[in-house]
Amino acid sequence: MSTRKPLIAANWKMYKTPAQSKEFVAAFLPLVHGHTRDEIVLCPPFVDIVAVVATTHGSKIHVGGQNMHWQEEGAFTGEISAGMLAAAGCTHVILGHSERRQLFGETDDTVNQKLHNALKHKLVPIVCVGELLAERGAGKTEEVLLRQVARALVNVAPDLARHIVIAYEPVWAIGTGKTATPEMAAEAHLIIRSQVARSLGREIADNMRILYGGSVKPENATTLLNQPEIDGALVGGASLDAQSFAKIVQYTLF
Ligand code: PEP
Repeated sequence: MSTRKPLIAANWKMYKTPAQSKEFVAAFLPLVHGHTRDEIVLCPPFVDIVAVVATTHGSKIHVGGQNMHWQEEGAFTGEISAGMLAAAGCTHVILGHSERRQLFGETDDTVNQKLHNALKHKLVPIVCVGELLAERGAGKTEEVLLRQVARALVNVAPDLARHIVIAYEPVWAIGTGKTATPEMAAEAHLIIRSQVARSLGREIADNMRILYGGSVKPENATTLLNQPEIDGALVGGASLDAQSFAKIVQYTLF
């Protein structure tokens, strides 16, 4: 039996105003009241963070950013720093989401720089990795995952690395309704864990949580989350509705 506490994170992407985020929290909190099995994290757009931190105060719900810059501060119009996220009440941050990599030029190297700064500010980084459909088709899934994980972890000190979370998100499964089969996900997670062991040592690898993301819904959450290698989920579309996200959080453990 794994001692890794499952983590279920909501990635709201560019959805919800502050008022809508408060409505979500008001509906969501009673649905998960007393739920302690899993770590629950809401990652709203930046402008909603203050509202979500305030309305979840006193509950076990954590709040995370969806992105951050790697510098402390500076002339970086439109960016936000790890220190700002932490000061606003965030405890987690998503790094290297495939939408950031594909649409906003994020690279393995910027993910690594961001990871260092997130750890400096004691944020729990949720580092996203995953292959494109063409890469899977070309038999390159393992190569891509090994590279993304190895480069994200460059020069990370093992004593700081304990808090890192990795999310395996096959790009072809994000927002498409297609999910990796539990076997595909389990195989990818083993590949990721093997690279973490090479980068940071076996003990850290065995304790690191590796989430699955890609069209997780209430209907498939139980099957996916019962895979011993899957330590939680990063949920996009299905996290926008309080009932639906609460059902995912309440997946049945067999
Ligand atoms: C995501 O954005 O990380 C994600 C997995 O999205 P979806 O659940 O909509 O596929």
